[in-house]
Amino acid sequence: MITDSLKNVDQEIERLIQREIYRQQHTLVLIPSENYASLAVLEAQGSVLNNKYAEGYIGKRYYQGCKLIDEIEYIAIKRAKELFGAEYVNVQPHSGTGANIAVYQALLKPGEKILSLKLTQGGHLSHGKEGSLPFKYHTIVNYGVDRKTERFDLDEIRKLAKKEKPRLIIVGASSYPRRIDFKPWREIADEIGAYLMVDAAHIIGLIAGGVHPDPVPYADVVTATTQKTLRGPRGAFILCRKEFASAIDKAVFPGTQGGPFMHIIAAKAVCFKEASDPSFKDYQRQIVANCRSLADVLVNEGFRLVTGGTDNHLLIIDLSSQKLTGEQAAILLEEAGIIVNKNCIPFDPLPPSITSGIRLGTPALTTRGMKEEQMRLIGQWIGEVLKNPHKKQIREKIRTKVEGLCRDFPIYKGFSQE
Ligand SMILES: *Cc1c(COP(=O)(O)O)cnc(C)c1O
Repeated sequence: MITDSLKNVDQEIERLIQREIYRQQHTLVLIPSENYASLAVLEAQGSVLNNKYAEGYIGKRYYQGCKLIDEIEYIAIKRAKELFGAEYVNVQPHSGTGANIAVYQALLKPGEKILSLKLTQGGHLSHGKEGSLPFKYHTIVNYGVDRKTERFDLDEIRKLAKKEKPRLIIVGASSYPRRIDFKPWREIADEIGAYLMVDAAHIIGLIAGGVHPDPVPYADVVTATTQKTLRGPRGAFILCRKEFASAIDKAVFPGTQGGPFMHIIAAKAVCFKEASDPSFKDYQRQIVANCRSLADVLVNEGFRLVTGGTDNHLLIIDLSSQKLTGEQAAILLEEAGIIVNKNCIPFDPLPPSITSGIRLGTPALTTRGMKEEQMRLIGQWIGEVLKNPHKKQIREKIRTKVEGLCRDFPIYKGFSQE
């Protein structure tokens, strides 16, 4: 903890946070959307900037006392622009979902059509799932992956786009283990006069590290989160072409948000600075190398991976031949101290609450300093747990090994291990 104040005011919450520190320290996190922000990021988030109202934008605030706030937001924007080579940046969105909704508000009229990836084949709730805001205000049409290759079939997607003529095409996924080349998507959008939005929530760190194709030259708008592979605070930002700048700003504030979270914007600035350091490229390279190595071990252990492998930070195991559901597998692994999430495989016969797959990613383990050698061990442990679902003692034995490995790779050096 950064200070002792919490302990003095609210022991109940303080104790729960201490226990969560222990849990994070003593388990292996393979959830690809999770990561460990640096203490510098956490410190900015926990700062007095929390106390300031700053509705509006730099130089155009609705409150006095914003000179320093303006400097902070300016630095965040400048760093993001440099890092991603974008013409325009808005750093105010509170979340990835909020950023996406602001883009729909900026670019579309009610009723206009969105073409996005099906949720059960790797898409995201905010791309128009039933019950979501875009579902209510727009016509949603989904593309999927090819049944055989489990990858995007651009000929099929082009055909669908020409038939449906959406106003906006969204490329971006929560569980797609392969590289996405954005140029052909731009061509499809141009052929039908649609906007192209890239939702880079998951891969934005890889993009900053130069280990994934860059969407900025091709997309009208790119949305991204800061808490995933970028390893910053929980939040989001929008990159866009200059021509959309004013529409995007208005859609964020006052369109869909009120006062910006200045403590989070300061933490985003810190995150962008960390991501500009040459060591961040090494980090991203290692995430991908670790994921490939984990995939190799799992294939050796006899598991089928969706698309057969991975090019990025995540992979999906198809458990249908193991006679295990994704839900069961995730619970068994948690007993062994390995934290994953259940995930649909393409054309999954089981519902999203059960699923036939689990999704694994390496950003968090790589932040702890783990390399290929540790991925081989962890892959074997996952194999042992999933192939022996009825043997509790195996999960207990692995749990002890997991704790040993966690001790060797502390999340925050100098934090108490107990
Ligand atoms: C994580 C994610 C988001 C944003 O999620 P929030 O939890 O709202 O920040 C948006 N799109 C995709 C594809 C994601 O994976």
